[in-house]
Parts: sequence; structure tokens; C-alpha cells
Amino acid sequence: MGVPPTRPADRAFARPRRRPIAAVAATVALLAVGAGVLVGLSTPAPRPADAPEGEFSAGRAFRNVEVIAAEPHVAGSAANDRVREHLVGTLRGLGLQTEVQDAVAPEAGQLSGAAGGATLARVRNVVARLPGTDPTGKVFLVSHYDSVQTGPGGNDDGAGTSAILEVARALSTGPRPRNDIVFVLTDAEEACLCGAAGFAADHPLARDGGVVLNLEARGSTGPVIMFETSRNNAKLVEIFGRAAPHPVGTSFAVEIYRALPNDTDFTAFLDRRFVGLNSAYIDGGAIYHTPLDVPARMDRGSLQMHGDNALGLAREFGRTDLGDLRAGHDDTYFPVLGGLVRYPGWLTVPLAVAALLAVGALGWLLRRRGRATAGTLAAGFGLTLVPVVVAPLGAWLLWTAITTIRPGYAELLDPYRPVAYRLAVVALSAAVLFCWYALLRRRVGPAALAFGGLAWLGVFGVLLAVAVPGGAYLTTLPALAGALAGFAALATRRDGPWPVVAVTLAAAVAVVILLPPVVLLFPALGMGMGAVAALVAVLLGLAVLPVVDLLHPRAGGQRGLLALRARRLGALPAAAAALAAVVLAGVGLAVDRFDAAHPVPTHLMYALDAGTGKAAWLTREEKPQPWTDGYVDGTVSIADDFPGLGTTELRGGPATAAPLPAPKLELLSDSRSGDQRVLRVRVVPQRQVRLLTLHVDTGTATVRSASVAGRDVPVEPGDGKWGFGVVFHAPPPEGVEFTLTLVPRGGAVSVRAMDASDGLSGVPGFRPRPEGVGVVGSHSSEMLAVARTYPL
Ligand SMILES: [Zn+2]
Repeated sequence: MGVPPTRPADRAFARPRRRPIAAVAATVALLAVGAGVLVGLSTPAPRPADAPEGEFSAGRAFRNVEVIAAEPHVAGSAANDRVREHLVGTLRGLGLQTEVQDAVAPEAGQLSGAAGGATLARVRNVVARLPGTDPTGKVFLVSHYDSVQTGPGGNDDGAGTSAILEVARALSTGPRPRNDIVFVLTDAEEACLCGAAGFAADHPLARDGGVVLNLEARGSTGPVIMFETSRNNAKLVEIFGRAAPHPVGTSFAVEIYRALPNDTDFTAFLDRRFVGLNSAYIDGGAIYHTPLDVPARMDRGSLQMHGDNALGLAREFGRTDLGDLRAGHDDTYFPVLGGLVRYPGWLTVPLAVAALLAVGALGWLLRRRGRATAGTLAAGFGLTLVPVVVAPLGAWLLWTAITTIRPGYAELLDPYRPVAYRLAVVALSAAVLFCWYALLRRRVGPAALAFGGLAWLGVFGVLLAVAVPGGAYLTTLPALAGALAGFAALATRRDGPWPVVAVTLAAAVAVVILLPPVVLLFPALGMGMGAVAALVAVLLGLAVLPVVDLLHPRAGGQRGLLALRARRLGALPAAAAALAAVVLAGVGLAVDRFDAAHPVPTHLMYALDAGTGKAAWLTREEKPQPWTDGYVDGTVSIADDFPGLGTTELRGGPATAAPLPAPKLELLSDSRSGDQRVLRVRVVPQRQVRLLTLHVDTGTATVRSASVAGRDVPVEPGDGKWGFGVVFHAPPPEGVEFTLTLVPRGGAVSVRAMDASDGLSGVPGFRPRPEGVGVVGSHSSEMLAVARTYPL
């Protein structure tokens, strides 16, 4: 590439002497905008318990958190019974029509890691109704009151459940709403979303559908994000922006959420006739599903935000005509300084094309005005890919290095204290961008590099508009703003103040649009995927390049020592950012050490074949921690012995057989007609268990149809020896009845029953964890499974 001839007027953005002033003014302006963005994403102050009765009070709600999350209360447990009684008593105390829906329900949607067969649960949903004065439909406030087996669920979903109780209180003290408000506190969400599925499918109040507001928490702090909507959401989003006091939500979140292995009750409603909004706070994910998810770890500001939004939305949907909520299109929407900006989704493609064309026109103008050549524009465009690729790669390498130093991070969604690490990734991205810019700005020129950045933002905008429409605004709008600023800069006097004002305004647009995703992607994806946030940070950097340029001495013009000094000064931002990245990574390692309050998470299970007396320790850890390593010594195949665990291979090691009984199999009836056999069996757990499973060896019989507790289940042949299976969560003590219609292959039919409880403390050979060693937040941590094969 050649060095373009520069005319004096083109060399500098502002007059040399005014350049430092312009740099400081633009930087201060952008920092102020950035601070405004952070304030817009912050949580409100929690209101005290004596707040006015029409308001939501985190202080009042928190009293319920303490009762709900006093101990782990997995579906089917005695602790869960106690929580349910508290919920029923509280809702009845408000004068609401309250009942418990006791049912057997199948799972909803696609569950990650819940393989092992068709899944059902016995659920007991708490359902209360506030009848409307002149209903046009129903508004459902939904959260789940069960917890995982490993922790008390202070946040997940003590937050949603206590918020709904407080909303119910506030609503029942004021004037009655026009529409029915139904409070649905579901059971067995953690196991299989079965409570919500059972309500949506079978409850009389769900028959005509309605609006669902689902409240969740996947962490302990941070802003509540409205991250999922039903399709054709324009009307819903409009109401959200208007009625939620803290409307943090983005159409991009839905796309991110789909990429995550999470599911909530909302899925069960979307499968049916419902519309609605799904909200959660997600920062502080280290404690998610662990014993540390206790009430004391809850950020009551997040609880206040959840409740403020839920109450505001319940009131608004309570008075809206619910007949016409399905607008014909989806909206694009995103948070802007405490508000919500939205526009119809059908504008996405035209806007993206317009932005790209505008950037193209800017390139053409830059060339015509002699500010760049075709060669430098092409170079600017091509070389912009370097930071776009290198910064995410650097973030990935940085985290790989940190997890090598501290392997315990492998089992954590996010570190306990991730802020320094997040800032290190941002600093690293800045270092890459500044370094790249310092190396190229003299060769390629500021105008061509700024063009390159805008061009890629424009290209990404078009690609996103096609593939991920809800996220296209992220690059389309900064590209458009940048191109318009470029036109304005070219149309005004080069050495006047207006070019600086124009590019600063465009940079402010980019900060407003791209800073929230940088901030929110870290907790959403965890440090393991910090590269995604690094990518967005670099895109933000590209959009503010003209302001970055002001931090450098003016390009061209100097000779000799002056040029050398200018080049040294130009390297300053890059060096400062690189140093910051290293220091912050070190601070992260120093601050976020594992200790008793922040233990290194470990995963252990125990599985026993009561028929053969063979037992094993099992872990899902890919590279077992030192504590876990004391139990396991290699990969073991469990497909044949424990099909109910839903996986074929785990790390494992031999264990002593515990004197524990397998679930009993009672043959209730056995009838034959033609080549078919109909077996009615009851599987009865002999201990207090959380789940039981039944599998049929499809080498001994083909399963034609099956029903469980009176419900038909799908018969899809699976892989391996145990080709048919059922997982039943929260089985009643009297057991679960299965009816199997089979075609035997001659000889006995082989059936395997397994059940599982939680807690390993009584198991022979188990040594309690030392201080600083904790439990991984998962649905199988501390599981104790007992299986046995029965020939029939
Ligand atoms: Zn959960």
C-alpha cells in the first residue's frame, strides 16, 4: 500500500494546539455517557419493610425468601411440603382463592442433560387467583418454588417466588384490576419444568391462555433482564417499555439465551397458547444451584428491581385489553440510559442495508476529497479484521492461562469475584485495538482506518439482520451514526470544532448501544466465553476510532525527532491498556482465591448395583479436582449399569457396596395375547428418594407402548442395551405404576429399576469435604443411585 499524499488541512483533525483540548473534551463526554449507561443498568435501592402498602418492598419480600430458602427443598421432599404450606397460607391470608394442583406431568421443551428416557414428575403447583372486575383475559405471574437438591435456592427461585407473594400482597390491597391475575408457583422446575408443563397443559385456569410473566434468577445480583418473549412481541415490548420502572431488555438476549444450556418454566408456556415475558437477574452466577445460594447472598436491589417490574407489569397488563396482544411482528429493542428504545423488526434489513450503503458512500467521499485512496480504503477494510480476530483470541488465551493457574474455575459458571477478570478482558481488547491503530495510522491513515471499522460494523449489521435479526441493531446503528458523522465532518471546516463534535456524537451512540452488551455478556456467558464480550468491546472500539485518533499526535507532518516523539506518544494508549490487562488479571488471581466462603466446586456421585453388589464413585468433572481425584481413577462406561443417569461415560472409580436396597419391582399383572405381553408393574422405592427410573432391555423385548401413572409416554427407541426408559421425579412413597405393552424376543424380559437420593455422608468410604472444597451446582451433585435388574 502507498502512503497517500497529505495536504496540510488533512493531516490533523483539529488544529494542532486545540487537539489536546478536543481529545480531553471528547473523552470526558464519552466517559460521562458510559457512566450514564452503567447507571441505567444498575439496580434500585431496596425499599424497607415499612414502605407504603401499594409499593413493592424488597424488605417485606425478603422475609419470605428466608422462609422459602431455609433449606434445600427439592420437589417431593418434606422440606418442599413445608415451603408449599407457607405459600398456600400466605396467599390465603391475602384473601385469594388458593389451591394446590396435584398431578403427574410430563416434561416441557428440550432439557439439557436430562437424558435417560421420557421424563415425568409428580408435581404440586400452588395456584391463586385474584378475580378481575371485567376480565378480557388472564395475567399469570409465574415462578418455581422448588430448589435444586444441592442448595436452598435463595435466589433460584426464592427471588421470583417471594417477589410474586409481595406483588400479590400489593395488588390485593389496592383496587381490583380489570383482568384476572393468577399467581402460579410451580413445582419440579429444576427437575424437568414439569410443574409449569402440567399447569399449562391441564389446569382449568390455563385453558384459554393469557399473558405470562415468568420471574427467575440465575445468580445473586445484577440488573433484572427481560431476556425472552413470545413471538410477535411488539405489543408486549411496548407495554414492557412503558410499564416496567426499570426496563432492561434487549432483543439480542433472546438469541444469546438460545445458545445457553438453560431452560425455564417459560418454555412450558410457550409450547402452549400463551404470550409473555421472561425476566431474570444473572450476575453472581458462581453460586447458581450450589449450597451457597442462601438468602444472605441475595442482592436485595435485584429483588427490588424484579418486584418493581413485576408489579408495574401486572398492573398494566391487569388493565389492558388482552384480546390484541399478538402484534404481527417482533420488535428490536434495547436499553438506553434507563429507558427502552424499540422499533419494528421489519426495519432491521432496510436499516442494515442503508447503514452499509452510507458507509460505502462515505468511502467514496473520502476518496474524492483526497482523504484516502482506493488502496488505503481497501487496506483499512482488510486490516480491521486483525483486532476483530486477535482480541477474542487474546481473551480466550488469557482465560486459558488463568484456568491453568487455577483449575477449579473449570466447574464454575463464573468466578466468585469476576470484576477484575472482566476488566482485564476489556483492557486486553483495548490494548489490541490501540496497538493495531498505533502501528497503522501513519501508513494507512486515520480516515481509511475509521472507514474500515465502520465498514465491518455495516457488514456485520447485514449478516446479523439475516441470521440474528434481534442483534442487528448492535452494529447497524453505530455504523449508520458513524457514516453520518463522517458526512458532517466532511461538510464542515476541517479545523473547526464541528468534525470533533460530530464524531464524538457518533461515538456516544456506539457507547450507548454497545456498552450494555459488553457489561451483560460477561455474566450471561461466564469468563469461559469472555471472548464474545471481547469481540463486542472491539466493535465498540472500532466505532469510536475517530475519538481514539484524538488521543494520538496528529498524523503526518513531523520530521526527525518530533516524528519519533510522536510515535512514542502514539504507543502510550496501547502500552497503558496492555499493562492494565496484566495488572487486572493479577488482581483477579489475588482477589478471587478459593476459601471456605468461596470453595472450589467438586462433583461426586455414588452408584450401587444392589443385585451384583458392585459400586462406583462417579464424577462429571472433566479433569477431576484433587479432592475428587481421591475417588476416581479413569473413565468408566455406565451405559449398561446405570442407564438412568442419562449418560454413557463418566470418570469413575471402585467403591465399597453400601447396604442399601434397590427399588422393589412388584408385578401387578401379566397378560399375553398373540405375540404381545402386557406387564403392569409397580416400582416402589425402599428409601426416601428424589427420582426413580425404569428401563427395558430392548434386546429382550420390543416396547410397543407404555404408560406411567396413567399417562402415556412416547416410545422412541434409544441407543444401547436399555433402549426404552422413563425417569420419574418426586415419586410418591407408595411407588409408581408402569404399564408396558411389549413383544418379547423369547425368554424373560429384562427390566432395570433405579432410584436416587441426595447426600453421600452415610456412604462407606465417603470423607467429608475439607474447608475450601464445595459442591458443583448441578442436578446430579451428591446423587446416590441404587439400581437392580429384574427378569420378568
Ligand atoms: Zn434453577
